[in-house]
Amino acid sequence: MHTTVGIIGGGPAGLLLARLLDRAGIDSVVLEHRDRAYVEERQRAGILEQGTVDALRACGAGERMDREGLVHHGIELRFDRRSHRIDFPSLTGGRSVMVYAQTEVVKDLIALRLAEGGGPLLFGAHAVAVEGAETGSPVIRFTHEGRERTLSCDYVVGCDGFHGIAREALPETVRRVFERVYPYSWLGILADVPPSCEELIYAHSPRGFALHSMRTPTVSRLYLQVPNGTDPADWSDERIWDELDARFAVDGDWKLERGPITQKSVTPMRSWVTEPMRHGRLFLAGDAAHIVPPTGAKGLNLAVSDVVVLARALEHWRATGSEELLDAYSDTCLRRVWRAEHFSYVMTTSLHTDPDQSPFDGRLQLSQLHRIADSTAAATELAENYTGLPIG
Ligand SMILES: Cc1cc2nc3c(=O)[nH]c(=O)nc-3n(C[C@H](O)[C@H](O)[C@H](O)COP(=O)(O)OP(=O)(O)OC[C@H]3O[C@@H](n4cnc5c(N)ncnc54)[C@H](O)[C@@H]3O)c2cc1C
Repeated sequence: MHTTVGIIGGGPAGLLLARLLDRAGIDSVVLEHRDRAYVEERQRAGILEQGTVDALRACGAGERMDREGLVHHGIELRFDRRSHRIDFPSLTGGRSVMVYAQTEVVKDLIALRLAEGGGPLLFGAHAVAVEGAETGSPVIRFTHEGRERTLSCDYVVGCDGFHGIAREALPETVRRVFERVYPYSWLGILADVPPSCEELIYAHSPRGFALHSMRTPTVSRLYLQVPNGTDPADWSDERIWDELDARFAVDGDWKLERGPITQKSVTPMRSWVTEPMRHGRLFLAGDAAHIVPPTGAKGLNLAVSDVVVLARALEHWRATGSEELLDAYSDTCLRRVWRAEHFSYVMTTSLHTDPDQSPFDGRLQLSQLHRIADSTAAATELAENYTGLPIG
């Protein structure tokens, strides 16, 4: 098998890249090692930045998102039993975000690839190695339907997430890794209950962080800061709701609606970047190259911005034969990646309670949160980063 662009991984990065290449008339093959149902049901992100929304619309993948997604014009910060709203459009010249689950983005992109005669998208195809990244004809070795197979490519793109294999093809002498592990995790739940708020609530409390988010008008998504190593089975539904109630407590009228919890999972918090994002004819995109703690809602959005930049560079190469934009890919993406890493770090450390933090640290956190609530300049900094900086 030969293709122009071999894509490892059928998550948001791989599927959107394939869609962008389809539209540009560049052939590609996507290898995804899970089955379709697994990929479509995997619960993860839910906040789309303005640039992500624009990119999905521009490639014809925004129709259902525009019908079913919920446009949000702000978020609420809650601390010291008080609420403070950050209004995005007035602080950013009109930018907003969209609540539309990653599961739905993935379903839309898979349906388009299969329905509109896009190139192959092989489920159950497990990539085991990328070879020849430094040559003019790299290959992906993979297994599919019990057979060992080889895909030869002009370019290979590793969109295979944090646990993927593509970045192993970067020699140790070239690869640099930057990492920070946080001393807490998130216990996330999905609940069949209408959201208790119209916009997301980010709550800082002495008991730890909590986030109220939503997936649809009838499904809520909520998170609690928990210690690393927490077993979700140790948290009964009642204990979760009681703890959420305590952390969202606010003076005045507000009630957290409870409902049946349909899913519980624990996610560790980690910041992690691999540099460079290109080696020879191998490119890394999305979680394969970097992850962020989810507090800033940046993971999915970074995956999208990487592949938008890469698709443009591949189009330029196809049209002109020049690799100029491909050469710039890693630097262009890393500037945005590090901005998102910083924002996610600031959001995480100002809202969570570090088990080792001193009373002094706690007062500094509150001071920073008050500053955001009281100062247009500080609120603008948050709003610009949250709604996302321009791509490219
Ligand atoms: C539990 C969890 C919760 C999250 N919550 C949020 C959130 O609330 N907000 C937010 O912004 N972000 C969140 N994220 C991050 C966000 O979901 C990711 O940043 C996003 O999925 C990145 O997309 P991706 O396509 O780069 O990687 P992935 O979505 O990880 O996709 C990689 C794909 O590659 C496939 N693959 C892996 N190895 C191979 C192989 N060897 N061969 C073939 N295929 C392979 C995988 O099956 C997968 O489908 C969360 C992540 C996790 C893990």
